[in-house]
Amino acid sequence: MTEPIRRPVFLMLATALAALVFWIDSIAEYESSVAILYLAALVLVSAVGSGKEVTRAAQGCVALTVLAWVVVHLHDPKAASILRCLFACIAIGVTAALLVSRKRLEATQQDLEHSRAEVDLFANSVPYVLWRSNPRGEIEYLNASWTAVTGLDRLSVLEGQRYNDVVHPDDIPILNETVSAAVANRTVTNLKVRIRQANGSYRWMQIYDNPAYSPLTDQVERFGGLSDVHDEVVAKQELQVVRDELETSRTELVNFTDSVPQILWRADHSGKIDFFNRRYTEITGRDVQATIGRQDYADDIHPEDREKFSRVWKEAISDRSEVRATYRLRHVTGEYRWMSLVGRPVQFGESPEEIRYYGGVSDIHDEVTSHQKVKELNETLEQRVAERTSELMLTEQRYAGLFDVSNMTFAEMDFSKAETMLDAIKDSGVTDLRSYMAAHPDELARTLGAIRTTRVNDALARLMGYENVADLVANPPAQNAEDGTEVLLRQLEMYYHGVNHIDGRTVLVGKAGRRIPVYFTVTRLSDGLHLSSHLDLSEQERIEQMRQAAQAEMARANRIATVGAFSASIAHELNQPITSMVFDARTGTRMIARENPDIEGVDRILQRMEKNAQRISGIVQRTRENLVGRRRAVGTIDLHRLALETRDLIDHDLKRAHVELEVVCATAVPAIMGDQVELQQVFVNLVNNAIDAMRGQQGVRRVTIELVAKDGAVEVRVSDTGPGIPEEYIQKLFEPFFTTKATGIGMGLEICRSAVAAMGGQLTVANLPAGGACFAFDLPFAVAQTS
Ligand code: ADP
Repeated sequence: MTEPIRRPVFLMLATALAALVFWIDSIAEYESSVAILYLAALVLVSAVGSGKEVTRAAQGCVALTVLAWVVVHLHDPKAASILRCLFACIAIGVTAALLVSRKRLEATQQDLEHSRAEVDLFANSVPYVLWRSNPRGEIEYLNASWTAVTGLDRLSVLEGQRYNDVVHPDDIPILNETVSAAVANRTVTNLKVRIRQANGSYRWMQIYDNPAYSPLTDQVERFGGLSDVHDEVVAKQELQVVRDELETSRTELVNFTDSVPQILWRADHSGKIDFFNRRYTEITGRDVQATIGRQDYADDIHPEDREKFSRVWKEAISDRSEVRATYRLRHVTGEYRWMSLVGRPVQFGESPEEIRYYGGVSDIHDEVTSHQKVKELNETLEQRVAERTSELMLTEQRYAGLFDVSNMTFAEMDFSKAETMLDAIKDSGVTDLRSYMAAHPDELARTLGAIRTTRVNDALARLMGYENVADLVANPPAQNAEDGTEVLLRQLEMYYHGVNHIDGRTVLVGKAGRRIPVYFTVTRLSDGLHLSSHLDLSEQERIEQMRQAAQAEMARANRIATVGAFSASIAHELNQPITSMVFDARTGTRMIARENPDIEGVDRILQRMEKNAQRISGIVQRTRENLVGRRRAVGTIDLHRLALETRDLIDHDLKRAHVELEVVCATAVPAIMGDQVELQQVFVNLVNNAIDAMRGQQGVRRVTIELVAKDGAVEVRVSDTGPGIPEEYIQKLFEPFFTTKATGIGMGLEICRSAVAAMGGQLTVANLPAGGACFAFDLPFAVAQTS
């Protein structure tokens, strides 16, 4: 009977039964417990109804039982009937309780079954292999996923305990070891092993096996499972490989960056340096991290280069362009070296910040300095080449031009072979080439024979009377001049002593013995070439001869012309001694006319008159000689004595003019050679001029004649304390007829000058610093002159 039909049937039967029992129990006084039959009705209800329905049915049955007692026994309640009724109610109640509890047990059993089925469903539907093992670690349960994963029947595997067959042989030892330890210690097993799959491949799977107390078995059982972690493990392994590779390449990179001989660097988008390789520290001596922290790397850049570097760097960062800079970097030694920095931006993302600069700095010091040197050398070289080229061009032009100029004579001679021969002579230690050649005439001839005339110009050929230059070139050079050998020897000496230029006079010997006096110059060029040019002196010599003749004639004419002047001069010169004599004669006459005639005084006056007479005679004699152009014989003169004598001679004039004449001769002076009368006349003239100059002058009037022997000559100085010579007159003083005096003739100094010159001296004049004029001249010692 199906459930929908059975329930109403059983309930109707139960109701009918209950109604029947009530009817019997209520119609007659049966002394039996019919009410017990209500229990059957309850059993029927419990067969199809719930616990609550059984309870309600039991309550109904109790009510019917009590109702039936009331109907039948209430009018005569007897204890027996009451007890029966009570027992029946108790029986109904107990039975109902039993039936309800049975109902509950059944419901519990059903729930259990349901749960069990759910667990089974869950265990078999999860995609993981699950198991349960006993406390010894032996697996007793495997879920359905086992078969799905391994392709093996789980029951047969369990039966034969063959579940370890699916583990990769290499993983068996670790598995056994781990599981044994976990079982023994009741700890968790957590292990990855390779499990053979249904398709035969191995996949990494995670074993997780946990000990748990089971109240059912009252012992510690183990529950575990397998999850597929193959992809994760493989990914991890691959990741590890990648990591290892990365680590290797990072190490390699570090080794590489540290071993390159350049500084390597990296900067972020703002130009902040965040990496330097080890070379940076080696070069600058700085700590990399400290420098990166402070960003003060530019402190090592040479102060002159720092600004430019910073500008270039900032520009590159703002333009996000390549950076290039050359600058001097201070090294750990303190030395600055030229470096070249190059850096490039690398974009590694979308945003502008995602940019980095990578670059290096290399040492280009040697290149820069050698480049600078080469540049300097090149510039110097270029300059020199330019100078030399222009010089050469100029020289060549001049040379070529000069050579072709028709009226200038040139000859070019090659001394190179001769110079080689001279080198050999020099190497042998000869210093005086001229003496050596004089002693070795053969060698001189050989050396001269090595000299070649390489080129002469038309002008020279013409000058020497040759029709063409070839004839002259063919001549042996020594034959081209009267003293050709001497001239060539001088040219050899040029090379020998390193002289580049000589000149002199010679007489060229031209064609058919023609003689041409010339002034020549020789210049030594490079490569042993000598260039000579000649100035024809034929005309000059002729002019010179004419000039000399004219001069002689003029001198004679001059002498005649100056006779008048001489007459005046004689008058001037004779004037003084004659005046002196007149005074002396008068003084002498007065002395004799006295009562006691001063015989000594008269004698002294007479002697002086004699000397004056002699002087007059000397002057007349000299003048006559001058006029006829002859000189008197000269003799030795004691200058000191002559000076003293002169003072004596003009004593009269000196006194009259209140002039003091001092003769200074500190040490004896040697005699000189000359004309005594003339020299005395020089003294008289100079002293008289001084007297004239100081005439009327206030203060000291002194003339000093100073004699000093020096360097083979006696220096004579005649100085005065007069006004000196006005600057504008100094040049004209010695000119004939120059005078500033009203009665002067202007011949005195001219006569003095020529007299001194005739004795080998030169009369000069100068003003003294303290005032006054000083006339001076040197006269050579007589000994030196005669020797
Ligand atoms: P003169 O005595 O006839 O004038 P000099 O030839 O002796 O001719 O002198 C030329 C001039 O030189 C003089 O007129 C005078 O002006 C100047 N002179 C010569 N000696 C002196 C001196 N000691 N001091 C100043 N002037 C002088």
